[in-house]
Amino acid sequence: MKKEVIIIGNGIAGITLAVLLLRKGISFALLHRKEEKQAFALGETLPPSAMPLLEQLKLLTVFEENAYRKTYGYHSMWGNSRVTDINFYHQNPYKNGLKINKHQTLEKMRDMIRDNMISYSKGFELIHESHGNTVVLAKNDGVKMVQGQILVDATGRNRAVLQKLNIESTVYDELVALSCHLPKIEHPKLTHEVYVESFKEGWGIVSALNETENICTIYTHKGHEILSKLKDVSNWKSVLSETVYLKDFLVEDDNIKFKGGNANSSIAPQVAGNNWLALGDAAMSFDPLSSHGITNAIYTAAKALEAIDKKLTEADPDVFIEYNETMKTIFQQYLQSKNNLYRQETRWKDSDFWKRFFE
Ligand SMILES: Cc1cc2nc3c(=O)[nH]c(=O)nc-3n(C[C@H](O)[C@H](O)[C@H](O)COP(=O)(O)OP(=O)(O)OC[C@H]3O[C@@H](n4cnc5c(N)ncnc54)[C@H](O)[C@@H]3O)c2cc1C
Repeated sequence: MKKEVIIIGNGIAGITLAVLLLRKGISFALLHRKEEKQAFALGETLPPSAMPLLEQLKLLTVFEENAYRKTYGYHSMWGNSRVTDINFYHQNPYKNGLKINKHQTLEKMRDMIRDNMISYSKGFELIHESHGNTVVLAKNDGVKMVQGQILVDATGRNRAVLQKLNIESTVYDELVALSCHLPKIEHPKLTHEVYVESFKEGWGIVSALNETENICTIYTHKGHEILSKLKDVSNWKSVLSETVYLKDFLVEDDNIKFKGGNANSSIAPQVAGNNWLALGDAAMSFDPLSSHGITNAIYTAAKALEAIDKKLTEADPDVFIEYNETMKTIFQQYLQSKNNLYRQETRWKDSDFWKRFFE
């Protein structure tokens, strides 16, 4: 099978690029792992600033129609013990963000490109050909060979293609996340259904997922002593008893499922090469405090489309170099603003979790 582009990865970045390539008439195959388990719903929030990008890409309707709900602001207790109310009413042109239902949105988008999806169950191999093309061997019981001019890594934090290219990422911190779905509680002191609170050992966010559930995520650093206590969700209420409002959302229940994983900031030293590029979390992954991971996945897909189109039509050799530089600049700006945000919290400057932001 010969295609112009081979995408590996089935998340928001890969699927968005696939939809954009389809509309542009660029041939592609999207390779993904067979029978992936449905991902734990993280209830990601898109800020109002992401809406014009979605509109420009003609993706706003699919995101809106499949979202859990619109968001109109959030509360945070960060840097002091007062609750700050951030209201999107003053944002332009959109006065709302979205609490996205990623699973449902992705399924709708996959419906648009299903004919171009190829699954594999036993991994994949890359073969580089002398004239610049790449052949991907998608391994099931047999092997399917797909030849492409451009290879795209959209495998998120796994960076499966970059790993095969022996490109190791630079990791800037050791943030980890533990998320659980809780029965929905409306807090009498909070109007927006998104609330962020920092505490001595990290920070947490709780938000309404749907009519019956809240999602709560606690962030701390790998190896922090609080982590082992948090591995049992029924302990959360006692472990986080010093928090101001966060504790009110927690319940002591053994049956609550949770999911843990990395939430660190990282970037590959090279995000694009001669005939490949990475996008979304595979290119650079953000701390969820930024609320920009999904926007980044969509934005990098749009930028990748521009670069791929130029590369194919004009055979411009510099276009992937420019893509690489743009991503690195974005990441440096992101790192600076993220670190500034953490440094606004000075109440526990000497504690294990916070001191590294002041070193
Ligand atoms: C706890 C938490 C909360 C977050 N909250 C927010 C938020 O509020 N707002 C926001 O904008 N962002 C948030 N994010 C970030 C956001 O979820 C990610 O940035 C975004 O989903 C990245 O999309 P992606 O497509 O690049 O990667 P992914 O969503 O990770 O998708 C990668 C895909 O590749 C597949 N894959 C992996 N390895 C392989 C392989 N070897 N072969 C084939 N396929 C493979 C995966 O199965 C997956 O389908 C949060 C992240 C975390 C961890």
